[in-house]
Amino acid sequence: MMSQPCGTTLSSTSKWLNIFQYCRFLRILGHVMVLLVLALVGSIYTAVVPLTFVPLLLSKNVFVVLGSVIVIVVFTTVTVMCLWSYLATVVLDPGRVAPDWHPFADEQHARAELERLSYMTYYYDRRDPRRPRFCKRCQTWKPQRAHHCSITGRCVLKMDHWCIWVVNCVGLLNYKAFLLFIFYAMMGCALAMLLLLKSMIDFFNNRLRGPSAPLIFVVSIFSFAFTLSLAGFLAMHLQLIAANCTTIEMYEKDRLHPWPYNKGFRRNFEEVFGRNKLRWLLPLYTEAEKRQLLESCLGKGPQIGLGGQWGAAALPMLSHPATPFLSTAV
Ligand SMILES: [Zn+2]
Repeated sequence: MMSQPCGTTLSSTSKWLNIFQYCRFLRILGHVMVLLVLALVGSIYTAVVPLTFVPLLLSKNVFVVLGSVIVIVVFTTVTVMCLWSYLATVVLDPGRVAPDWHPFADEQHARAELERLSYMTYYYDRRDPRRPRFCKRCQTWKPQRAHHCSITGRCVLKMDHWCIWVVNCVGLLNYKAFLLFIFYAMMGCALAMLLLLKSMIDFFNNRLRGPSAPLIFVVSIFSFAFTLSLAGFLAMHLQLIAANCTTIEMYEKDRLHPWPYNKGFRRNFEEVFGRNKLRWLLPLYTEAEKRQLLESCLGKGPQIGLGGQWGAAALPMLSHPATPFLSTAV
C-alpha cells in the first residue's frame, strides 16, 4: 500500500471513492425490483379485471357483458405480453464477447498487437472508429459498440445500459424485449387509467366503497404516473432507434459526425425488431436473426463501411501518451 502525506493510504481513500463497490448492492436491489415489478403488474391487473370488470359479467345487460368480455380479453393479452417481454429481458443474455475474439486477420497478428499494447509504447487514435478496442478489465479485445458493464463485470455487445428494473444489462440480444416491455407496460397503464376512470370519479364522489376501493384508487394514480413516464422513455428510445444510437453512445463526448451506423429509420428499426412484421411484437429472435445480429457485431474489421480489414499500418502509431484525444485502446 502506498502511504500518503496525510497519513491515510491510497487503498483506504479509494475504498470510499470507488463507486464500483456499490455494484453488488445494485444487483441485490435489482432482485427486489423484479418482485416490485411483478407486484405492480399483479396489482394493476387485479384492480382492472377481477375487481372491476369480472363483476360486470353478471349484468343483465348483454352489451355490458359483451364489453366486459372484450376488455378482459384485451387487458389480459396486454398483461401476458408485458410479462413475457419483461421476463425475456431479465433472463436473456444481452450478448457477450468470446474471450478469444479479436478484430485482426489472424492469430499471429492478434498476438503481435497485444504484445505491442502491453509495452504501452504506442497508442490508438480514439477519433478513429476503426481502431482496435481492448478492455483492460476483461483483458480481451472487444468489437465496435461493445462496452464493459461494471455491474455484470463483462463486456456487452451493443450495450445500451444496465437496468435496475430488469436486473440485467440491456444490449444487442435483449434490447427488442426491453423495448417491447416498455411498450406493453405503457399500453397496460394507459388502458388501466382509462378503464378505471369511472371508478376514480365514483371514489371522489364517495360512491366507490368496500375493501377494493383503496387499491383501485392507488392503481389509478400509479397508472397515470407510469403512462406519462413510460411514454417519455419510449419516445426517447424511438429517437435513438431512428439514429441507430445506444443510450451510452448518446452521452459519448467524442461522438462521430455524421454517425456512421445510421442506415435510415426503416433499416435501423429492422436491425432491432427484425424484418418479419409478424414478429415485431414478439420479444424473441429466430436463430437466423440472432446469428445475423451476432455476425454484424463480431465480424472481423469495421462493420460500418469505413474500409477493409484493420491493420497496424492503417493507423498512426503515436508514442506520446499526453497527446489530447489519445489514450490506450479502450
Ligand atoms: Zn470488459
